[in-house]
Amino acid sequence: MALPKTQDREQTKSPNGPQPIRGDRGASIMGPRNVPLERENPDLLASPPTDAGTIPNLKFSFATARNRLTDGGWAREVTVRELPIATELAGVNMRLKPGGIRELHWHKAAEWAYMLAGRCRITAVDAQGRNFIDDVGVGDLWNFPAGIPHSIQGLEEGCEFLLVFDDGNFSENETFLLSDWLAHTPREVLAKNFGVPEAAFDNLASNPEWIFGGKVPGPLASDAVKSPAGTVPVTLSHHLLAQKPIKVAGGQVRIADSSNFTAAKTIAAGLIEIEPGGIRELHWHPNTDEWQYYISGQGRMTVFASSGKARTFDYQAGDVGYVPFAMGHYVENTGDETLRFLEMFRSPYFADISLNQWLALTPTELVQAHLNLDQNTMGALKKEKPIIAASRSTS
Ligand code: MN
Ligand code: MN
Repeated sequence: MALPKTQDREQTKSPNGPQPIRGDRGASIMGPRNVPLERENPDLLASPPTDAGTIPNLKFSFATARNRLTDGGWAREVTVRELPIATELAGVNMRLKPGGIRELHWHKAAEWAYMLAGRCRITAVDAQGRNFIDDVGVGDLWNFPAGIPHSIQGLEEGCEFLLVFDDGNFSENETFLLSDWLAHTPREVLAKNFGVPEAAFDNLASNPEWIFGGKVPGPLASDAVKSPAGTVPVTLSHHLLAQKPIKVAGGQVRIADSSNFTAAKTIAAGLIEIEPGGIRELHWHPNTDEWQYYISGQGRMTVFASSGKARTFDYQAGDVGYVPFAMGHYVENTGDETLRFLEMFRSPYFADISLNQWLALTPTELVQAHLNLDQNTMGALKKEKPIIAASRSTS
């Protein structure tokens, strides 16, 4: 059966807005419409004829998440409340002004981070009293294990970063804050605990700010605190962009998991870059769900959910995508600049199964019996060629 041609993406640029029409299927919109949203989601407006069945929503943009503003910056989150399918991981996009402080705090989930812009100073102390103080910049990661107290402060240029937590139910608004705790402890107990008069706490901030303005700290060395127990045994930061990428046809990949970033025991990540016209080949992940964050460019993904079900979504910078466990998918660059995104997993290791590799390593006649392909196509299938395949073995 000849399928109607897939959506002509040029149509999304038409001055009156795209129409849900493919060949002789569909019809123009007569009722109310939201043209900017329809332009951003051409594969929802006129879904490919291969899409079928009911699949939950797999997209939520930080642009439509509530942003909480303070004098030190802002933060917005995409959690299971925004994207109900995303039970494994939650994300926070945070901005700190120069000197801006994300208050000393801790939480039940582990925190993984990717620096998007600027620089910041991070601190942490573990249960053995070993400390960690470091400066991080664009393309750097950090990982604070669950329950470990930490802080983040913007340096001269301020900063913005993505935080990923290993619990979809996490909320940045419900962390354990230093000032919040002290404000809710009787003054006489504070006095006894610290061995000082009650009056010493008269100036405690009565209204904790969570993110607040501060003074840009001096050089890293000037902020050093020597712990009798020493520093943490494994570094909590990692220079992902300094890592040599795995180069493949159409793009490149950098992977960080517990094999090369020891601190990241519960969260694995791949930074994927796909050139215009390129594709992150058909694949799935044998270990867990995938949480995506789109950094630049634009792309689309079709998720295959078995039983004849599939749905296609369009993504751009600032969007979160999700792929439930084991579902087949690809990510195609549909724009004219590099598509860059993070794929994240609640797992100590990164793993994927490439369709190309699977078929290439399976007896030809067996594959042929399923797909009824001609000799040339079979030859191409048998030639294993990673197209943005982030295979563990090549890292
Ligand atoms: Mn935190
Ligand atoms: Mn994937």
